[in-house]
Amino acid sequence: MSKTFRAYHGREVALATKHHKEEVLGPPLLQKVGITLVVPEGLDTDLLGTFSGEVERPGVSRDVAVKKACLGMNALGLPLGLASEGSFGPHPQWMFMPVDHELLAFVDADQGITVVEQVLSTETNYSHIRVSAMDHELMDFLSRAAFPSHGVVVRPDSGWQPGFLFKGITDSKTLGEAVEQCIGVSDNGYVHVETDMRAHMNPSRRAVLRQAAEALGTRLATPCPACGTPGWGVVDVIRGLLCEECGTKTTLVCAEVYGCVRCDYQQESPRGDGILKASPEFCPWCNP
Ligand SMILES: [Zn+2]
Ligand SMILES: [Zn+2]
Repeated sequence: MSKTFRAYHGREVALATKHHKEEVLGPPLLQKVGITLVVPEGLDTDLLGTFSGEVERPGVSRDVAVKKACLGMNALGLPLGLASEGSFGPHPQWMFMPVDHELLAFVDADQGITVVEQVLSTETNYSHIRVSAMDHELMDFLSRAAFPSHGVVVRPDSGWQPGFLFKGITDSKTLGEAVEQCIGVSDNGYVHVETDMRAHMNPSRRAVLRQAAEALGTRLATPCPACGTPGWGVVDVIRGLLCEECGTKTTLVCAEVYGCVRCDYQQESPRGDGILKASPEFCPWCNP
């Protein structure tokens, strides 16, 4: 694709965040697209839902991200906005493995387009535990959670209680005090400790956010071959990669479908990783 296509070069883009995501998202987007992120002051993005379960999330990630982007655009009076939305949970295929799903939505009100990019990564410490003391089970959990380089959140296990939610803990002394206090007020005597997934508390999450920003940057720097609108990229996949032994169709992806955010033009392209045949272990005939 054309390296000189820089539709947004020199433009300012509103980023609604209170957890310093501009530090992670800014550099790749400046380098690939030439845009500068501007963060509106005093915007309470918690109104749109937070981690740790204090506010119910009003919608799916994409809708939330687009709404957040518009909040930022309105606050700054800019026609361009960006927002990110992270969610965490079991992997869609390997349920025992946690994943970090990062979605970025870029809104261009002048052109009336929204460009979305997402990354699903298993490089996350997302986890929680319930314990009744500062025991070795908790110590093992903390080591897996990469504490204290990654923060944790502590609350009574029996439920939410005003004044007993401790976020952003990154040292053992504060952790010990929070655990003791929460056990003291917990109806069942247990404390709930979980990884703090906010970007500024979680370097693993920042790395995944950076990947998402790079993917979005590539997309914004790529025009639709038919109409020239920025945001050309993968919109779907086609399954049916053939078995290398017997030629039977598998459920693995054989091609990627590229599409435009404005017009209906699409192109099929072989898998980006260059894999042309499926290993027989994925074949319903060779390995039923
Ligand atoms: Zn086969
Ligand atoms: Zn197009």
